[in-house]
Amino acid sequence: MGHEVLYFNLSYTWIVGWLFLFEARLPYKTIWRRSDGQLGPDLGHTILNKGLVQLFIVQLIALGIVGANNNSQAAMLPLPLQVVIGLVISEIGLYCAHRLAHEWPLLWRCHAVHHSVKKLWLVNTGRFHFIDSLASVLASIPFLLLSGISMDAIVWVSAITAYIGILTHCNVDMECGWLNYVFNTPNLHRWHHSTDRNEGDNNYGENLMLWDILLGTFLYKPGCDITDIGIADKMPASFIAQLAVPFRWNRVQLGAAPATEQ
Ligand SMILES: [Zn+2]
Ligand SMILES: [Zn+2]
Repeated sequence: MGHEVLYFNLSYTWIVGWLFLFEARLPYKTIWRRSDGQLGPDLGHTILNKGLVQLFIVQLIALGIVGANNNSQAAMLPLPLQVVIGLVISEIGLYCAHRLAHEWPLLWRCHAVHHSVKKLWLVNTGRFHFIDSLASVLASIPFLLLSGISMDAIVWVSAITAYIGILTHCNVDMECGWLNYVFNTPNLHRWHHSTDRNEGDNNYGENLMLWDILLGTFLYKPGCDITDIGIADKMPASFIAQLAVPFRWNRVQLGAAPATEQ
């Protein structure tokens, strides 16, 4: 497992390095290269999420809830097939959690932190309220465990989720073509961030678009540029106030809380 973590960190750093270069040389929107004043909160949410999610997974392993699963029938299948099974099945939980976060106002209060940005770039990939992140992990882990795939396959599924995550937010001018019908891509995820909820309430898939296509929430507009991303709701500008926003949502929306609108 030690080597896998090392390889993952090296490959992730390598991809991030290239994407930063492409964001500078080949931006999808030049205006998105300007500062939005959210670098601190973006990094704060990312670090908090990474720490909390890792701590949560370590606890699950320590309690024996997640562990070697190498004796099930699924774990006997070739590794690539197990990874595909893991991606498809875990996506059920991820899709449901994400769609609920858009359709259930209480969860939207947390998920709005992610959608409040007015530009997409590598750095706000991990900008999620920690409750939002924990809800996604909680929603996907039972499906991964039920699938019976091996721990090696689970590690691969997690790595692919991380790779796709940074790709979907990068401000790089790329057209993904037919891949848009299989994977979540920057082309699709930008529409998910549209200020128009008729567009934004689509493309819920975290890795795969399978469930969006089957359930009628797939939105792809080839050759069409997104103009505005963001939300109509108010969002405080500071990291601490964003952490508190789900608990003082109405006050912030009414302008009663001393929060600066972003
Ligand atoms: Zn969303
Ligand atoms: Zn996003």
